[in-house]
Amino acid sequence: MSTGYLWHELYGWADTGSGSLFPADPGVGLQPIAHHVAHPDTKRRMHELVVVSGLIDHLQRLQPRHAGEEELLRVHTPEHVRRIRSESRLPKGGDAGDGISPFGRGGYEIATLAAGGAIEVVDAVVQGRVENGYALVHPCGHHAPADTGMGFCVFNNAAVAVKRAREVLGVPKVAVVDWDVHHGNGTQSIFWDDPSVLTVSIHQDRCFPPNSGFGHERGGGAGHGYNLNLPLPPGTGDGGYLYAVENVVVPALRAFAPDLIVVASGMDPNAMDPLARQLVTSRGFRGMTQAVLDVAQEVCGGKVAMVQEGGYSPHYVPFCGYACIETLAGVRLLDDPLFPVVGGMHGHDLEPHQKAVCDEIAELVADIG
Ligand SMILES: [Zn+2]
Repeated sequence: MSTGYLWHELYGWADTGSGSLFPADPGVGLQPIAHHVAHPDTKRRMHELVVVSGLIDHLQRLQPRHAGEEELLRVHTPEHVRRIRSESRLPKGGDAGDGISPFGRGGYEIATLAAGGAIEVVDAVVQGRVENGYALVHPCGHHAPADTGMGFCVFNNAAVAVKRAREVLGVPKVAVVDWDVHHGNGTQSIFWDDPSVLTVSIHQDRCFPPNSGFGHERGGGAGHGYNLNLPLPPGTGDGGYLYAVENVVVPALRAFAPDLIVVASGMDPNAMDPLARQLVTSRGFRGMTQAVLDVAQEVCGGKVAMVQEGGYSPHYVPFCGYACIETLAGVRLLDDPLFPVVGGMHGHDLEPHQKAVCDEIAELVADIG
């Protein structure tokens, strides 16, 4: 069986403007800069590593299509979709919704191609055209709730693909495992009262959005218990992340027994990321991917679709994403050349305060059934 892989050059053409994190504003001392922190070159470099290393020859290329409006509307409000489309026609584009998520003219088409890329990989996995797959899409999606974009996300790509899998392809139960370093608040809110979609977010405690992603946010109504948040302390490395996956994510997936696992795969827990303070290396990403694959073999025939979320170090994101894709494909072609540096940092052993948070959240798995 094969591993699907999807990228489109248009993702690399997303225009994030001349701000750094906030828009450039000389009045408050914010200079313009060549690369916004969410500039798509980070993802383009990951794709080029996949090609240049020869990993591409072990993958089945999938082609994205644009998500249709009716597909976006399964998740988003008509007002949000209309506003993005209309701002996208302006000469200089617009903003996804929070003032720090700029997109250029034509940004609607790039965002629908990102949502459509997630759809294509999820469809291919569900339909058995590939065993598992990786959608290297841009812009990211997991912060976007129904009625707005935020945190560099325009449309919630993974949620759009999951809704289609549920409602069109008839997949009974889907689990979304989000290891982007920031809270998957948009995905949480979209599936808040839906017991057919388990959402699990492992993130840095109160990183972004502010005051979001606490353990007590567990879903509502019939969905109570089907949202798990694991807010890890800053400074958590490979040991803490692997403990979290093995002791919270894997038992939750076993208890829920989904028919499909979607990983919202952010690379920003990496040790060189500018927007968070975790210490994960390519070894950690490899281990987390393998743990999800192993439990997927038990519960859903190995059906895993990974959808790219954040990741802001152009230096290290490519090697972390590469490790995930290699693991999906079951090959090992390239040693991470930066591992001697990031793996040599202290902080990779599980610390008691990290274990305590994981163990507390692990108790909530008992309510999944
Ligand atoms: Zn993130």
